[in-house]
Amino acid sequence: MSQRSNLILALDLGGTHFRLALADENGKVLKHHVGLTNAEDGPEQGISRIKDAIRGMLSGNSPDAVRGMGVAAAGLIDRDAGMLLTSPNMLSWYKTPLKELFEQELELPVWVGNDANLAALGEHMFGAGRDSDDLTYITVSTGIGGGVVSGGRLLTGYKGFAIEPGHMTIDINGPRCNCGNVGCLEVMASGTAIARMAVDKLSGGEKSAITGLVDGDLDRVTAEVVAGAAKTGDVLAKEVMHTAATNLGVGVVNLVHLFNPELVIIGGGVSKAGDLIFEPVRRVVAERIMPDIEVRILPAYLGDDSGLLGAVALVLQSAP
Ligand SMILES: [Zn+2]
Repeated sequence: MSQRSNLILALDLGGTHFRLALADENGKVLKHHVGLTNAEDGPEQGISRIKDAIRGMLSGNSPDAVRGMGVAAAGLIDRDAGMLLTSPNMLSWYKTPLKELFEQELELPVWVGNDANLAALGEHMFGAGRDSDDLTYITVSTGIGGGVVSGGRLLTGYKGFAIEPGHMTIDINGPRCNCGNVGCLEVMASGTAIARMAVDKLSGGEKSAITGLVDGDLDRVTAEVVAGAAKTGDVLAKEVMHTAATNLGVGVVNLVHLFNPELVIIGGGVSKAGDLIFEPVRRVVAERIMPDIEVRILPAYLGDDSGLLGAVALVLQSAP
């Protein structure tokens, strides 16, 4: 590769915000920009705002200096078409041809991937999984997503929809999930699930410090509030966190049995609860995993930059 094309443009596209970066091939972010997607305005306006930001970021750099652009987006991505299909927080962006729209503007090759998938690739190249070619990444925040790197390559499946760990069934009689199924991991262990479980208990008359933390307004209960209360010893909050983490552990056991990773990396906002999540997950995995299978469970390293650095990694792995 020539000296002049060692820069990579990366976009992490979310429903509310987009994050844009210009990085080098070691994953070092040289320029960074956060802007408003306002996805509800529709793709035309959102894309236009992103293109303006890209023009600003690239000014002063020769177009030849940039090897390509990687896009990380939440939702189902048609990998070959580079098209955003269904995205839960960007419903009006249904079937937006991201690759085509950005390639027209930039005259650069563009690759598009699911944000959690790319976070797995990012952790493999730049994060907690740098020393491993076989890892499974799972992100636990509002929802649950993930990705698998196997033999050093991102596993994408037939159309790029692999993997959706949030929608594997953990309880065939469990609560209804947004996807239409019941008892999915996402509805049993996500941040949304943690808040819902706490509110259900409080609405049933159980006592907890959570009520005071939200001034009695149960709409304000979040996973972060529950985790905070659990850390101060609140019994109800500890029970909820323990239930969610145990469910997550069951999901991790399933993933380990499917993909035989050397590492399972857990990221996303809920993972910031630390031992409240990791201790039950490790215990469930130790109890339920098949004998002789070994796996290490680690926190993610890249944090809020996981999607961006995953997009950088996608270009590095895809560009000729
Ligand atoms: Zn589901």
